[in-house]
Amino acid sequence: MSRARIFVREARSILTPTGGYLSGFSHTLQAYSGCEFSCRYCYVREMMPQRTSPERLPWSAWIAPKKNAPELLARVAERGGLDDARIFCSSVSDPYTPLERHMGLTRGCLEVMARRPPLALVVQTRSPFVARDADLLARIPRLVVSMTVATDDEAVRRALEPNAPSTALRLGALQRLQQAGVRTQAALAPLLPCDPERLARLLDPWVQRVVVDDFFRGDGAGGRRSRVALEQLRVLGHGDWAEPGYADAAVETLRRVLGAERVLVSQSGFNELDWVAAG
Ligand code: SF4
Repeated sequence: MSRARIFVREARSILTPTGGYLSGFSHTLQAYSGCEFSCRYCYVREMMPQRTSPERLPWSAWIAPKKNAPELLARVAERGGLDDARIFCSSVSDPYTPLERHMGLTRGCLEVMARRPPLALVVQTRSPFVARDADLLARIPRLVVSMTVATDDEAVRRALEPNAPSTALRLGALQRLQQAGVRTQAALAPLLPCDPERLARLLDPWVQRVVVDDFFRGDGAGGRRSRVALEQLRVLGHGDWAEPGYADAAVETLRRVLGAERVLVSQSGFNELDWVAAG
């Protein structure tokens, strides 16, 4: 259970122009700053100096909901600012962080986009709570829900994603989304120590495609941006998964089981939006 301190605030803007890794998207959308999930591999904790966080709290010890997020987005929509937007929601938080149950800010933003859909929308989460919004998500065209499923090994998952829901719950949510008519993908990012054949078979019925980032490439700095996870992998005896090229064999297995056309890799995979925009 998260014990993050809550700092409710009014934001001045809601869409952030992208650059760098998310080059295929025009904007990111964050209804929350901070994140309660505390993934060990989260390199936001390394990128965000503690001195800039509320009261200098460490990463995942705080969460700052933007209480006016839906209103800000509605204003953007009224100006036509969503019509050409390719939105990634969210890049440095989780849109279904536990506080969303009480605040409904992500849902409020989705309601805006159901009325005025963007050109493409990827909702990126680790939370099965996304299934609460299945009916609403199904009404938004050109949308894909991307669920992080980094391993089939629950012990590894608990060690690296201690505050996030189990893989089984995430698979259940993917199933409910599919049944509601929402297109889904799995983000194996970063790909953690796993049985890739079993993982592929677990995902096969519930996602149209998977996007894989191995730990080395996804980190972008060979582990230096996710130092805490690198240490944890070594403690678990899986330090080799962070070596360059180590996960290539697992990716090949995913391709064999799922079909090569359903397995996208790394930055080009995450930014492949033709399929999203065609929906
Ligand atoms: S869900 Fe994303 S933003 Fe939140 S701690 Fe995990 S990796 Fe970081």
